[in-house]
Amino acid sequence: MLKISHMKKIFLLFAIFVTSAILYAQEEKIDLDMVQKIRNEGLNHSQVMEIAFQLTDASGSRLMQSPGFFKAANWAKNKLAEWGLENAQLEPWGDWGKGWELQKSYLALAAPYYKPLIGFPKTWTISTNGLQHAEVILVDAQDSAGLETYRGRLKGKIVMTTRTDTLIPTYTADAKRYTAEELQKMADYDPAKPPASRPQGPAQRPQFQLSNKLKDLAQQDGAIAVLTTNTRSAEGTVFVQGGGAFAPNTAPNFLDIALAYEDYMSIQRLVQHQIPVQLDIDVQSKFFENDVKGYNVIAEIKGTDKNLKSQLVMMGGHLDSWQGATGATDNAAGCIAMMEAVRILKTLGFKPRRTVRIALWGGEETGLFGSKNYVKNHFTDTATKKYNAEGDRLSVYINLDNGTGKIRGVYLQGNASVKPVFTKWLEPFNDLGATTTTLQNTGGTDHLSFDAIGLPAFQFIQDPIEYGSRTHHSNMDSYDHLQAEDLKQAATIIASFIYDAAQREEKIPRKTPPVAAK
Ligand SMILES: [Zn+2]
Repeated sequence: MLKISHMKKIFLLFAIFVTSAILYAQEEKIDLDMVQKIRNEGLNHSQVMEIAFQLTDASGSRLMQSPGFFKAANWAKNKLAEWGLENAQLEPWGDWGKGWELQKSYLALAAPYYKPLIGFPKTWTISTNGLQHAEVILVDAQDSAGLETYRGRLKGKIVMTTRTDTLIPTYTADAKRYTAEELQKMADYDPAKPPASRPQGPAQRPQFQLSNKLKDLAQQDGAIAVLTTNTRSAEGTVFVQGGGAFAPNTAPNFLDIALAYEDYMSIQRLVQHQIPVQLDIDVQSKFFENDVKGYNVIAEIKGTDKNLKSQLVMMGGHLDSWQGATGATDNAAGCIAMMEAVRILKTLGFKPRRTVRIALWGGEETGLFGSKNYVKNHFTDTATKKYNAEGDRLSVYINLDNGTGKIRGVYLQGNASVKPVFTKWLEPFNDLGATTTTLQNTGGTDHLSFDAIGLPAFQFIQDPIEYGSRTHHSNMDSYDHLQAEDLKQAATIIASFIYDAAQREEKIPRKTPPVAAK
């Protein structure tokens, strides 16, 4: 046994007293009866996969401002109203840009033999004017001067640049969950001692730097399309995003097709062996420029406490997607979990003290436009650029946008004062794998729009599953990559967090002193 001096004993007793006083002050009340009801509804009577079907298969891809986006947005708005939420609407936030829809896309090798190709036109690019039968030209240029030597030779051609990389097989599994060690590392994260920055990857290859100049040259010369690829777009998965400007009154972008790496390299080798390659290509896309306003889907459960009902608890995920698939994990998953969470609460007849507001954001993929503009319109003082009186009444915003994986904890975004609160809120779900709070920041999602003006906003820690490896912004981001059990768990925990935030005596504490985001 350790020998302790008298003075040390007194000091220890004092220390224990102070520590327990702090713990007592920070103790969060958890309504375990409500937790049980939420768990039962969320885990045993879930509707996540029906919501998933409506937002993915039934709507199609949800590229911002496309018919698929509006189909999903209107379905969500109507469903939220049907569940009894109030003020369900598509709320405009100001000008955004053009809608675009892919209406036809056919691409195949026609000579020296027939072969279907895996390719996806990038968004906001032009059509081919019907079926074209065109020769491939391989541009082998290291710089702008080299590119200029091709001027006048691209008319009627499909243009590719020479690649010098090779495919590296993947030796790791696509899907993963966080290990206990990885979560512990997040929990131990100390903002005062940030880990050494990761080593930089190899320098960008010249073909990427040339790609915009090449597209300009191809367009000026009257080419039909450019084909692009990368080593990640392999094994049937093609990553495909934007093909250029989408703002109102910008010129349509030249046709740029993301092609599977294996198809691309096969064509390149044929051309390099002086075997002429012909492709059949027929791409038809449609631009929508009548309504360039951007929209978010918003709905509420009105608060009932006379002192607290003017205060807000917000939750959200982004509804817009890229168009290579139906954006199931990015981010129908977040919208599904958020919608299911409010469904659970309405089904249980929840009458919140604070007003609960759900937002399914538009325009996230092109730069968090929906949430940024929402925060600007509602919560920002135009003079100070800090939060205004309405922002002051926002207790918290919670976000889900890291794929289909279940919740393992919360990124605290540098807000240490919220750690004991969320730790306690997670407790009833420790058995479902949600245990960790980390002072680490996370980026890339809509919570940043709130955090930027000092409003408490948080993204959950989620198991990655296949997000980084397979589904994020690819043609594989479809319904079958959603994990039903993970979504049920996430929706259940979110419902409970919303309940806790809406009923809590105080608003969620803000950063003290404010810690810079980013
Ligand atoms: Zn995304």
